[in-house]
Amino acid sequence: MEVNSAACNLFGAAKKKLVGKSIDTFLVLPLNRKHNQEKTEIKIKQHQGKVKTVEYSLVKDLLPKHNLFVFRDISTLQRQAIVELDLHHQRVELFAEVTLKIRQSLQIHEILQTAVTEVQRILQADRVLIYQVFGNGTGMPIKEAVLTGFKPILGVKFPEEVFPADYRQLYTKGRVRAIPNVHAPDAELAECLIEFMNEWQIKSKLVVPILQNAKSEPRGEHLWGLLISHQCQAPREWTEFEQELMQQLADQIGIALFQGELLENLESIVAERTAKLRQEINVRTKAEIALRHSEEQLRLIANGLPVLIAYVDKKQHYQFNNQAYQTWLGLSPQEICDRHLSQVHGEEEYQQISQYVATALKGETVTYERDLVLQDGCVHSLSVTYIPHIQTQKTVQGFFALTSDISDRKAIERMKDEFISVVSHELRTPLTSIHSSLKILATGKLGSLYPQGERMLNIADEQTERLVHLVNNVLDLQRIQSGKIIMNKQACKADDLMQEAVQMMKTLAQEQKIKLSYQSTPLIVWADRDYIMQTLTNLVSNAIKFSPDNSTVILSAAIETKNISEHQSISYVTFAVQDRGQGIPQDRLETIFERFQQVDSSDSRKKGGTGLGLAICRQIVEGHGGQIWAESCLNRGSTFYFTLPELIQLESDRHD
Ligand code: ADP
Repeated sequence: MEVNSAACNLFGAAKKKLVGKSIDTFLVLPLNRKHNQEKTEIKIKQHQGKVKTVEYSLVKDLLPKHNLFVFRDISTLQRQAIVELDLHHQRVELFAEVTLKIRQSLQIHEILQTAVTEVQRILQADRVLIYQVFGNGTGMPIKEAVLTGFKPILGVKFPEEVFPADYRQLYTKGRVRAIPNVHAPDAELAECLIEFMNEWQIKSKLVVPILQNAKSEPRGEHLWGLLISHQCQAPREWTEFEQELMQQLADQIGIALFQGELLENLESIVAERTAKLRQEINVRTKAEIALRHSEEQLRLIANGLPVLIAYVDKKQHYQFNNQAYQTWLGLSPQEICDRHLSQVHGEEEYQQISQYVATALKGETVTYERDLVLQDGCVHSLSVTYIPHIQTQKTVQGFFALTSDISDRKAIERMKDEFISVVSHELRTPLTSIHSSLKILATGKLGSLYPQGERMLNIADEQTERLVHLVNNVLDLQRIQSGKIIMNKQACKADDLMQEAVQMMKTLAQEQKIKLSYQSTPLIVWADRDYIMQTLTNLVSNAIKFSPDNSTVILSAAIETKNISEHQSISYVTFAVQDRGQGIPQDRLETIFERFQQVDSSDSRKKGGTGLGLAICRQIVEGHGGQIWAESCLNRGSTFYFTLPELIQLESDRHD
């Protein structure tokens, strides 16, 4: 019905062309008649073909049946929005590019340098710097990108008044400070600060904080420094985008610093660990050298000793042997190392030594002697000791074997024994005739003597008897030791043996006012009657000799059964001779069984005796496959025990 000139402009047509026409003629899409909204967008087709975006509002029924349309051209507004969007895109891309550049490096100094260079390039600022805040309130620009013609500020320490504590606090809270004109009154800068600005030609500045993650800070962040842009030629308005860019870059720097610190920490941890490892390797190498050296020394010692030294594991394989094995046995290292004992020594010899091997592997030290033909073709007497190698859990890992050549010692012992034997034999004949002559003299048949002469004769008789006893003992021992004696073993009743011994020693016991008793038993032993009698009487005579008056010496025998394998057991009869005498010190309990050993050297004078009795007893008992030992308590008495085999019974025999 009616249009104004602005509408004519908008529709691109003269008033007369518009009036009287339907509005839809001019629209890209027909109007939505039901439209009730206040404002709506439509597109107008101008007659030149141009399309315009228009916003319209409708006032219905302004006059009866007359509506009012108000049109507004919004094409330019839309264009502006597109431009702004483009700009935003550009900024995002720019920001991404700078961030990428920063992130490409892990070196903090490189990151900081890139940041200032890039900010300076993008903002076209005259000077961009990174200022590091120190703990004491001062600080210093540590990176700078400055246009030529302006004074570089790098490395200049800012006094505290330029950057007071309250500023620092504000920055810590994340404040961004943009001052378009430092000289403008609304900048509200202190006098000293303006002076400082002048000195460095600063007209405008934009400051953003660089905050770094810090576990020690209550908020988790601390003010590491500032990213600052200076404009030196003229004042400058800092746009929102520029402020935002600076802030985001400062955040990136904060993250990079944190990561860099982590990396540095990591590097220092790696460096520290490497140094430690190197040290450990050094120590280990030194220890290895020392070990090798000590090993060489040990080997030198082991090889230099005139004994066989070896280590045998629990499977009875040689694990170590010294050089003597080669020179003595003529075996190469390959013939010994890792070989079983039976392979090295041969099956026959192995049978002989296997019992000692078993003892060592049970955890007991064992020593034995054996004769062996060595590399030189001669028979050598060897003393072999096996010392078990016991680990902390008390398990036997193997044993050390020490073998020494005792041929010389044996030869000397033989010579000594032969000498004693010869001398004793030579002594016995004249002694016997002296003894008989003295006995005849004592009868008085060859004339009577003065009482003094008789006393002298008695002494001579007593001492001769002692000498005969000694010579007999020496010869006995020598005979048994040399193995010249054959034990005539037979079944003997233990009761008979004890009874006979008591009978034989009765007179001596009475003389010494000692009671003798024995405990009856039905046991039977396998023994040489005469020799066992010799043993028993020797023990009883000692018991009598060392007992106080009116005390009792008791003989007894008891059975003891030992399993030697799953199907085999052996029974021993243990004889005991118990007295209530002076006793024997603990450290002498073993030595008294050696030749000429007496607890007190005056014993032989006071009590008679030669110190050979127990040595003979041991030879006899061992000749029967038994053992002899003593137990004693000083001043309370001693008990001498010896064992004899009762009977070897096989399990199968028992079933039969
Ligand atoms: P001896 O002929 O001297 O008795 P033995 O070999 O029989 O020789 O005994 C050696 C030493 O052992 C004795 O001299 C004595 O010191 C000690 N001895 C032996 N039997 C006993 C005992 N029953 N009580 C105390 N000491 C004893």
